[in-house]
Amino acid sequence: MGRHLGASADVIIAGAGIAGIAAAWGLARRREDWTVLLVDPRPPLSLTSNRPEANYRNWWPQAAMVELANRSIDLMADLQSSGATFAMNQRGYLYVTADAATAERLPARIAEYRGAGLGPAAADLLEPGEIRARFPHLSPGIRGAIHALRAGSVDTVGLGMAMLEQERGGGIELAEGRVVGVDVGSSGVRSVTVWTPDGLEQVETSRFVDAAGPWAGDVALFLGVRLPIETVLRQKVLMHDPLGVVPRSAPFTIGLDDRGGRPPGVHIKPDDSVAGDAIKLGWAVDQNPQPPIEDPACPREFPHDVLARAATIIPGLAAYLDRDPGIIDHDGGFYARTPDGMPLIGPLEVEGAYALAGLAGFGAMMAPAAGELIAAWILGDDLAGWAADFEPARFSGQYDRLRTPPGSAPSGEL
Ligand SMILES: Cc1cc2nc3c(=O)[nH]c(=O)nc-3n(C[C@H](O)[C@H](O)[C@H](O)COP(=O)(O)OP(=O)(O)OC[C@H]3O[C@@H](n4cnc5c(N)ncnc54)[C@H](O)[C@@H]3O)c2cc1C
Repeated sequence: MGRHLGASADVIIAGAGIAGIAAAWGLARRREDWTVLLVDPRPPLSLTSNRPEANYRNWWPQAAMVELANRSIDLMADLQSSGATFAMNQRGYLYVTADAATAERLPARIAEYRGAGLGPAAADLLEPGEIRARFPHLSPGIRGAIHALRAGSVDTVGLGMAMLEQERGGGIELAEGRVVGVDVGSSGVRSVTVWTPDGLEQVETSRFVDAAGPWAGDVALFLGVRLPIETVLRQKVLMHDPLGVVPRSAPFTIGLDDRGGRPPGVHIKPDDSVAGDAIKLGWAVDQNPQPPIEDPACPREFPHDVLARAATIIPGLAAYLDRDPGIIDHDGGFYARTPDGMPLIGPLEVEGAYALAGLAGFGAMMAPAAGELIAAWILGDDLAGWAADFEPARFSGQYDRLRTPPGSAPSGEL
């Protein structure tokens, strides 16, 4: 990463996670003559963006999220057509329930998602017989499932690097430093102050993008703006599956049932990224917001808890409960989420300031389209009608009223 930042830049972006990279990519594709300065104290893609479960889906209950996801998946395909080599599959998301009442409600759930603009081919409703025939590793107690089809795994770090590399020569400059202030005059953003390894530097600019992930709220305060973002810890466990309990072709499988007072949402998938027999497990057990830290200590009981819960869906996993399953990795990061579960993409109250934040558990999958959209805002393009659903202004003056109810997750989180 470069050190000296130069006297001025056309745009300065705080944060070189996948959001900041996508914003820089979106701009550089359109304005090769611009200098887009991407500032971060850390190497690119080394924080939350380096810890995802690496999934994507167009299966969302909100019409605008369906639009954003479909556009993003199209852009991922374009990147691959132009030579990018990040791994991606389309095995789908499989939502399963062992509860009779929940199984009965699955058709209504499909109808709700179709109402958000998804076509009839977006998902299949699976009856118990078909589930057993197609996914014999699942518990015979599973009574119903939805298989969302435009969905699967994507190497999210590879995707971020592909965007960065594609436009690196086209105006994106990476700089090591932390944004510590934004100077605002009567006509808006005037300059950004960055703490670099060589000391403080002030760079003139009239356009600033807050893409600081879990710290986006703190960065917005430099502008005197409050963002409706709360941060919750999310963890994942990567372990060996030497018995081959989870077929290598299995979809990303998510449990819809709560049990024993504990929430739904445990999820399991095969993961070939580090070992040929690896599986990845996660579970949104904790909905209580807490301040983000860079390397959160993940509770030691989580691997056992998540495995025990996953074994209610995939009984073969119980074999690893009383022997060392061979844990490869257990880490976590923070979802930065808004009360309505949708991102902040667009202008802030200060002229020349923008946010690309609040990306919760979908920041990687939505990144290409979000980068394209923030570039359109900055360049003053015509916007699709659904872009308004992501405008930070939707929360104006309502920050305190619109918090996520304690202990719950915004709609569509999984
Ligand atoms: C366990 C887990 C599983 C997930 N699974 C998925 C998934 O399957 N699919 C998916 O799409 N998404 C998933 N996500 C969500 C996804 O990882 C995030 O939405 C995404 O990485 C957010 O990217 P970001 O660039 O906003 O944040 P980050 O990657 O955190 O980047 C923010 C950057 O801002 C920098 N920064 C902070 N303050 C400043 C400052 N003052 N000045 C300059 N820079 C600053 C930080 O150093 C950091 O590098 C998951 C997240 C977690 C935690």
